[in-house]
Amino acid sequence: MTQPPTAIVIGAGVAGLAAARQLRASGAQVIVLEADPTVGGRVRTLVEQGCQIELGAEFLASFYTRTLALIDELGLRDDLRRIPSSSAILRDGRFHSLWPNIRLAFTSLVAPRHKLALSYLLASLVRHGPLLDLAAFQKAHLIDDSSVSDYARAHLSDDLLEYVLQPPLSGIFYWTPERTSRALLMLVLRAGLSHPAGLQLFTLRQGLGQLPLAMAAGMDVRLGARVCAVERRPGGGYLVRLEGGAQDLSADMVVCATTASAVPRILPWLGDERLALFREVRYSSTALLATGTRERLPRDFYGLLFPRRESAFLASATIQAVKSASAVPRGRDTLALHLSGPAMDGLRQCDDESLIGLMLAELRRLAPRYDPTPHAVFQRLYRCPEALPEFDVGHFHRLQLLADGDHGPPGLAFAGDYLGGPFVEGAILSGEAAAARAMT
Ligand SMILES: Cc1cc2nc3c(=O)[nH]c(=O)nc-3n(C[C@H](O)[C@H](O)[C@H](O)COP(=O)(O)OP(=O)(O)OC[C@H]3O[C@@H](n4cnc5c(N)ncnc54)[C@H](O)[C@@H]3O)c2cc1C
Repeated sequence: MTQPPTAIVIGAGVAGLAAARQLRASGAQVIVLEADPTVGGRVRTLVEQGCQIELGAEFLASFYTRTLALIDELGLRDDLRRIPSSSAILRDGRFHSLWPNIRLAFTSLVAPRHKLALSYLLASLVRHGPLLDLAAFQKAHLIDDSSVSDYARAHLSDDLLEYVLQPPLSGIFYWTPERTSRALLMLVLRAGLSHPAGLQLFTLRQGLGQLPLAMAAGMDVRLGARVCAVERRPGGGYLVRLEGGAQDLSADMVVCATTASAVPRILPWLGDERLALFREVRYSSTALLATGTRERLPRDFYGLLFPRRESAFLASATIQAVKSASAVPRGRDTLALHLSGPAMDGLRQCDDESLIGLMLAELRRLAPRYDPTPHAVFQRLYRCPEALPEFDVGHFHRLQLLADGDHGPPGLAFAGDYLGGPFVEGAILSGEAAAARAMT
């Protein structure tokens, strides 16, 4: 009888859990090591006075084909909730909805001549279609040649950049168009526009944290287990060292499913050239202020996006009672307010109380109807120093180098949203691809 191969997955975010499930399905004995006291990484739902607070991912999109299939496999289909309402962008004191996409034709957010310029972008999406593959991000390296802002200023217009492209980049990813590759913009736009059902957003009944919890069920997941080093064993395979004097573990395969920034600490022997690919990945940051209210907030939109021309601080807000009836108790609400990436970078030293004061004062100035403070029952601030990996110009070339296989010895593979795409779908796809690579 031959022993089944053994595998260790480092990190119980959705990328690591997807890798672990795939390895187990291929017959390996799998242990998942997670530094935090709970699974999920950046997909985590807290419940405060009956109100769900999403610490990371807040919605799934209809183009997340693999994630939605996984939800079926996990028996969670009945818990999937479609988010019924739209998002809107603020300009000169008014919110403009671009949802469904056809509204762009009629919106007064930008003048008609700017809308015409969009046809150039649509034609480019068609022309570059074969390079825009969510399951193989690295293919887009051929158009990883300019930032969104340079591209928009050369081919679109300043208004389109500032009021149509920048607000979602900032509100969803906490990025700036100056530090985002146009390849990423095109990948996301194509995925969002080309799905037959149109772009729809979803959550789960108990919040998105339900997904990693279901993925981890039945797995050997060891919480509070921070890996400090992975070493190669002379006879093959790997030795995994844990912090705090816990016993070392060994395995035939290792999938490292941490953020990119953790890789050089865990695997310093990978060599300068390879490690540079991980070190060069930069993360945006944000802060989330969740305010629970004893009354409902206005119900016209689910998401509010604040262009940087309107606010130097705030990126976005979401109204949880609009998102899903199960997100808050009856008659109550939660406003989730996010700081923009550049603002968070500048306010890192600011204490919590001052940060909360700044965010709420800015919200009152921009959108006083949404001020939650008169009916507030709780207020929580969470800082997110590594929110989303930046897909800046050059990142797709890094992905190409990693995809070429020049990133480690046999049995070692990497997973994470910095590889597969900056959202849940990308993390899951990267985890499954890493499992397949580790097994070969
Ligand atoms: C504020 C915010 C909002 C977002 N909104 C959305 C959204 O609406 N929709 C969407 O699709 N995506 C969204 N995302 C992105 C999405 O959450 C991520 O892309 C995805 O969760 C990344 O998963 P991952 O497994 O790659 O990384 P992570 O979730 O970061 O997992 C990595 C895990 O590795 C663990 N780890 C690290 N070092 C070690 C170590 N040495 N030893 C052991 N364990 C270790 C960490 O604790 C962590 O659990 C959002 C993210 C943030 C932060």
